[in-house]
Amino acid sequence: MENFELNYSLKRSKRKTLGIEVNHKGEVIVTAPDYIPMDKIEEVIQKRRSWILEKVKEKEKNLQIQPKRKYLSGESVYLFGRQYYLKVIKSNDYYVEMAHNRINFYVRDLDEAEAKVTEYLDNEFRSLIAYKTAECLETFQDRYSIPLVPEFKIRKMAKRWGSCTKDGVINLNPTLVAASVECIEYVIFHELTHLLHHDHDEEFFRTLKSVCPKYKELKEKLEKETVLFED
Ligand SMILES: [Zn+2]
Repeated sequence: MENFELNYSLKRSKRKTLGIEVNHKGEVIVTAPDYIPMDKIEEVIQKRRSWILEKVKEKEKNLQIQPKRKYLSGESVYLFGRQYYLKVIKSNDYYVEMAHNRINFYVRDLDEAEAKVTEYLDNEFRSLIAYKTAECLETFQDRYSIPLVPEFKIRKMAKRWGSCTKDGVINLNPTLVAASVECIEYVIFHELTHLLHHDHDEEFFRTLKSVCPKYKELKEKLEKETVLFED
């Protein structure tokens, strides 16, 4: 791993400090102000080398586990715990029709289907998250005073449904779009509880249970629903 060549792109910017970022494709982007010379930049990169390589590996792994979907007619998608069969139909206008257990996508070009279905699922998830997080936060705040108001973000993660940072950023995995709404609520409550209790200790579960009494059951259900989109 130490001999691994480290490629990066350098962006000069007006910021005052040097920043290193690894994007979702595992590309390393270094941002530095004009006055920092190249050899100094190289030095910082070498110092943080193992951290950077670890991040690159992590991001590349994330990319690999994202299922490759083509979204063709006859395939199915999972939306909020239910399975729907897809039908892709050529049409002059783009629109979506939902009926019972099917979703029909009317697209100008069949090659567009994949992008359109992905966009559709993303939008569905975003709108659910927008009001569910507000709802869960209200329930949580009725009982507990929290040190800071969390910021919710949607972020792809390799093996986690959600995460909560020290600064109160709660990340939710977009693959949760396949899970039932009550399981998504469980994830939101779980992460909100981390604002008060960092570890999964007794206090953590006592708090979680008070806002989400069925948490154990929902966690198991979520694990089963996970299987649905890993194949
Ligand atoms: Zn946790």
